[in-house]
Amino acid sequence: MVRLQKIYSEIAGLFDERRTEPPEVEELHQQNLQRKQELAGLESQISELREEISGVRRKEEESALELEHFQKQKSMVQNEREFTAVISEIDFATRSLEEAKTRREELENNIADLEANIETRQKEIPEEEAAHREITENWDKRKAEIKERIQDLALQARAIEEELTPKNRAHFLRLLKSKHGVAIAPVVEGACSMCHFKLRPHLQQRVRRCEETITCEHCLRILYLEESLKD
Ligand SMILES: [Zn+2]
Repeated sequence: MVRLQKIYSEIAGLFDERRTEPPEVEELHQQNLQRKQELAGLESQISELREEISGVRRKEEESALELEHFQKQKSMVQNEREFTAVISEIDFATRSLEEAKTRREELENNIADLEANIETRQKEIPEEEAAHREITENWDKRKAEIKERIQDLALQARAIEEELTPKNRAHFLRLLKSKHGVAIAPVVEGACSMCHFKLRPHLQQRVRRCEETITCEHCLRILYLEESLKD
């Protein structure tokens, strides 16, 4: 049972190790996530700017048409009053056209900057991935080792379980399940080493004699003495 406990404890430790990503792998996942979020943020900024730019382009075209229209009218004015009115319309259309053009150029530059930023980041990806590959591969290798070791230990456990009487085996496995993976505990300085409950003297003697299964009166785990294992 002591040997069996050691195996099950090792299996539990290995499962824990396999469940817990090493900090460098965890950090890597965070970095990848952050990179994706940043790229998505840049993409969405671009699409907002593209939406704005198509509105600005429409405005630019409209202003250009207006300007053309009023310039034609200028040649057909009949008097001073009409001339002044047309000139004012031309001024207005010219200003609108200029404003739209300036804004469009601004937006085009912003989009170009964002696109260059995305391109730079995407170029960095292969380099980062190469650096990350080693970390990921080491972790994958360790996980494979753990899996293999667990399979090996499970076979060893099965073999030892077959050596136990069905009653002892059932008792042990029931405790293993209900007592968080520890079915058997050594007595240390007269107490159960798991729950620290002090054994009554006659129980201590019975544990020492090693003729029957003695359990802790408090936590119900099977008890043994390290020194009896040597015999
Ligand atoms: Zn106990």
